[in-house]
Amino acid sequence: MHENGLKPGSTIGILGGGQLGRMLAVAAAELGFRCHVYCPDGESPAFDVAAARTVASYENEAALAAFAGSVDVITYEFENVPASTAEVLSGQVAVLPGVTALAASQDRLAEKELIRSLGIDVAPFAAVDSLGDLEAALEALGRPAILKTRRFGYDGKGQAKLMPGDDAAAAYESIGQRPAVLEGFVSFVREVSALVVRGRGGETAVYDITENVHRNHILYTSTVPAVIRPETAAEARALGIRIAEALDYVGVLAVEMFVVEEGTFERLVVNEIAPRVHNSGHWTQDGAGASQFENHIRAVAGWPLASTARHSDTVMTNLIGADADDWQRFAAEPGARLHLYGKAESRPGRKMGHVNRISPKRG
Ligand code: AMP
Repeated sequence: MHENGLKPGSTIGILGGGQLGRMLAVAAAELGFRCHVYCPDGESPAFDVAAARTVASYENEAALAAFAGSVDVITYEFENVPASTAEVLSGQVAVLPGVTALAASQDRLAEKELIRSLGIDVAPFAAVDSLGDLEAALEALGRPAILKTRRFGYDGKGQAKLMPGDDAAAAYESIGQRPAVLEGFVSFVREVSALVVRGRGGETAVYDITENVHRNHILYTSTVPAVIRPETAAEARALGIRIAEALDYVGVLAVEMFVVEEGTFERLVVNEIAPRVHNSGHWTQDGAGASQFENHIRAVAGWPLASTARHSDTVMTNLIGADADDWQRFAAEPGARLHLYGKAESRPGRKMGHVNRISPKRG
């Protein structure tokens, strides 16, 4: 137990009220904590399972101060919390993961520079602040290449792929001519992620490496175990820990990576990090000793970490948009564990729930 460990009955503040906040609040409740969820959207799914709510903007300093005054620690479920918001709050109460992790993950350029400085591979990249920069970067990195905004990109938004012959000016226009990075294309054989949890005393644990498949830029399935060599899995875990330590991180950190085959060797290239619980860790609810949500809450509360060991092979499938209309079928399926987020309205591309299908551990 950390010297500042929270007692049961303490209140954990959560910035953001989506499904990740909801599942964090449920996990917190199971350990005897109360949660106060802060979100500008009055329809947030996390409100249904929280002891207290604040509906206010992230710029509302009076509301932020009242929120900070009502909780014992603050965490967040999405990385685009304005840095100024985190600073205002952290003057009053601990914000975990800390502002350094938030800042690093909000800016693709800073993120890549940090990861590369740790001796970890990232895709070749160049900063783009003008069309001239983009043309020079295309010359240097070749095509295909991917232009990504430095800030506020997710699920493929704020990105443009440049194939041979594609017009650079049109691509730059399509991302709103915002500050960006151009990335060289990585010919990967699979995408994997490491979910690392680091406690307030610096102790770490890592879940088994997860293999991720995307559809239309949105995560579709996550499977454990990933089909990678044991050395590759060990390296993925180790580099996840290295990043968490460099950020003096507290909580669950997701590190998304590409696996590149070079002969019989598998090289790992880090794509991005997320300073929060992550969709590719939802399998841990049913396939591991303790879920990523419980371990995140334990970490920010200064509690000992719980087991990350996998006890079952698991395939997590996201229910996106109308997929969730089949909830009765999933509810009746033997071996399937259905999780729904309580969202009133289903829209194309909206994450409505997920199903974890577990089977006895083989690999
Ligand atoms: P991101 O928004 O950075 O997570 O990218 C979304 C998806 O686009 C990734 O999960 C990959 O499937 C693909 N992608 C992103 N960057 C690259 C890259 N440099 N090379 C190849 N594919 C990429």
